[in-house]
Amino acid sequence: MKHNFSAGPCILPREVIERAASAVLDFNESGLSLIEISHRSKDFVAVMDKAQSLALKLLGLENKGYKALFLQGGASLQFAMVPMNLFQRSAAYLDTGTWSTKAIEEAKRMGTTHVMATSADQGYRYIPEGFDLPQGIDYVHYTSNNTIYGTQMARFPKTDAPLVCDMSSDIFSRQLDFEQFDLIYAGAQKNMGPAGATLVVVKESILKKEKGSLPAMLDYQAHIKGESMYNTPSVFAVYVSMLTLDWLDRQGGIAQIEPKNREKGRVMYEAIDKSELFEGYAHAKDRSLMNATFNLNRPELTDRFNELLREAGIEGLAGHRSVGGYRASMYNALPLSSVQALTEVMGYLEQKG
Ligand SMILES: *Cc1c(COP(=O)(O)O)cnc(C)c1O
Repeated sequence: MKHNFSAGPCILPREVIERAASAVLDFNESGLSLIEISHRSKDFVAVMDKAQSLALKLLGLENKGYKALFLQGGASLQFAMVPMNLFQRSAAYLDTGTWSTKAIEEAKRMGTTHVMATSADQGYRYIPEGFDLPQGIDYVHYTSNNTIYGTQMARFPKTDAPLVCDMSSDIFSRQLDFEQFDLIYAGAQKNMGPAGATLVVVKESILKKEKGSLPAMLDYQAHIKGESMYNTPSVFAVYVSMLTLDWLDRQGGIAQIEPKNREKGRVMYEAIDKSELFEGYAHAKDRSLMNATFNLNRPELTDRFNELLREAGIEGLAGHRSVGGYRASMYNALPLSSVQALTEVMGYLEQKG
């Protein structure tokens, strides 16, 4: 058995993979594959409807004026679609690392973009606090979890402007007051499904730009009008996302998965903190429950550590190429036993070298 710590695309529940595999062979006993039927067929429309309603249900946003869309282009296209759809004059961003930096670059193409604060001075090891929020802006943008550095926001300071959040790597992992956000987006491949679908949950009342003023594919209103099928959606990615959301819902939703994620984080960080060999990358107060980043203090043990990891079936632990070291990604589908397998290897290396 493998322990999959990959940061994305990443581990999905085994039963989801099995159901997806069988639907590729024969979808709903139709004698046809999921990926060779019309997206307008009754069976696929039901999949899309269920994926949208499960997303809103799990976030507690049903009947509150929000729409859930499954778009393409990844979270990276949302870096551009958000300003395209929301900019009138200016917006404010918090810079907590690569993904927010990229979002800022896209926003700058479209209007005045205030960077409220940045943690670049310390390699994005922390989440800035106590920064000023400009007034009279079109929206505020945060990245809730910084996948590369292993930091996570606990609070989301707000103005009267709409609040936008990139939740690609921690959506559905912890309870938040999701109503504080007016637009949430997340690439599917970190806590939801395969790459190729991007969830956008948007409060319709914030979309003020005149209909038709943007290219349709980049216009949230065109996708809302088309019920997330303005054009052919990524049927396979939407289907697998629906299965994962259904898996989460059957377990009792975010309220039930959050304590499991907290326990995994506790075990992981305890192992890092008590070790002389390993050192955490992110400041303790801002550490992420999804991505634990750490370094090995004695580089001469790198080969031995890698060999032990291989023997234990531990995969996907390499840190992002911009940070180096190690990163243990502990998304919803990762069992506690995988974290224990990793901490055992770390403890063994510490004792026996
Ligand atoms: C992975 C990631 C992205 C980029 O997602 P793509 O779907 O590859 O465009 C953006 N933001 C965060 C927080 C991420 O973890």
